[in-house]
Amino acid sequence: MPAVAESFKSGKLSRIADKVASGARLSPGDALELYDCADLPQIGRLAELARQRQAGAGQEQFVYYIHNMHINPTNYCAETCRFCSYANPREQSKAYHWSVDQVIAEAHKGARLGIAEIHLVGGLHPACNLDYYLDVLRRLKKELPHIHIKALTAVEIDYLSRLSGLSSNETLMALKEAGLDSMPGGGAEIFAPAVRKAMLVKKTPPSTWLTIHGIAHSLGIRSNATMLTGIGETAANKVDHMIMLREQQDKSGGFMCFIPLKCHYQGTDLLPEVTPPSEADLLKDIAISRILLDNFAHIKAYWIQLGAQLAQKALSFGADDMDGTIQEEKVTHAAGATTPLQLAAQQIESLIVQAGYVPVERDTVYNIVRIGNSSTAKA
Ligand code: SF4
Repeated sequence: MPAVAESFKSGKLSRIADKVASGARLSPGDALELYDCADLPQIGRLAELARQRQAGAGQEQFVYYIHNMHINPTNYCAETCRFCSYANPREQSKAYHWSVDQVIAEAHKGARLGIAEIHLVGGLHPACNLDYYLDVLRRLKKELPHIHIKALTAVEIDYLSRLSGLSSNETLMALKEAGLDSMPGGGAEIFAPAVRKAMLVKKTPPSTWLTIHGIAHSLGIRSNATMLTGIGETAANKVDHMIMLREQQDKSGGFMCFIPLKCHYQGTDLLPEVTPPSEADLLKDIAISRILLDNFAHIKAYWIQLGAQLAQKALSFGADDMDGTIQEEKVTHAAGATTPLQLAAQQIESLIVQAGYVPVERDTVYNIVRIGNSSTAKA
């Protein structure tokens, strides 16, 4: 490790490289310095140094993926965030909410394809209340007990809690008892108040979002965390967002993975008011999150949002997870994403191998299911 840090000695980033190599924590000022630095390849190398430091011995080159599917029970939402084209479609005929039976039928389709995880999130629909989700979870656990259920963002938990009159703690305990295994990281958006105001984000404030994840962690429900970019945020806003996540992780320790997300604009009125992030911006978000979030084991390059090629490139910028095969995805595609709706495991493995890493099929909580190799990936 010191030998790698040595190679930064002549560069601008040598002070930060020394910190990463020695395991010292970066300050917000250090992270801003990285955002200000135009030397993208050096930032990528630094992120790789951080990734290798964080990975377990012998796992430095591992890149994870999972066999999973997305289920979105409703695209109606009581909220109207300006960056969201998934909920409240302009054509009312496209609005839907599924019965419990429809959700279960969809899950069985995924089960027949051998998925290990259901990622279940949707809008905020009064008919999809706590009882509805308790029914969904109980039936999923009864009929497909081998499948891990990662469901309901902190925003949805907050909504279900308010609808039911139960506390967040009581709501999460009921959901856990019904079968909730873990929570996704959505709904964090960006924590900066000014950006949230401009984007008409009235839902679950940052403190509540963080508290709900803290409660979940205390109940043994692991979760992920996200950050949405391309909605008018500054570098300082992104650093503040990540620092708040790092502090929460110090307290509750249950975050598995950080996922930087980019806004897709189709169906929104955000352009040209905001500047879409460039490829370099997105790679910097991945790299800087890897370096700054020293207590997050995994950083995800979410291929469905970034596209397979950029997600592959992100692997050299500190990302060690490509998410999953995903049988169907509606949220990003409603906003114009042109990525395919699914990638075969073999395609994901090939992307990982071509980038020089070792593909590892995982379960939701990062237990290793199978370690791939070049020959299986290219077969
Ligand atoms: S981002 Fe979430 S809370 Fe906001 S409108 Fe879309 S589905 Fe609703």
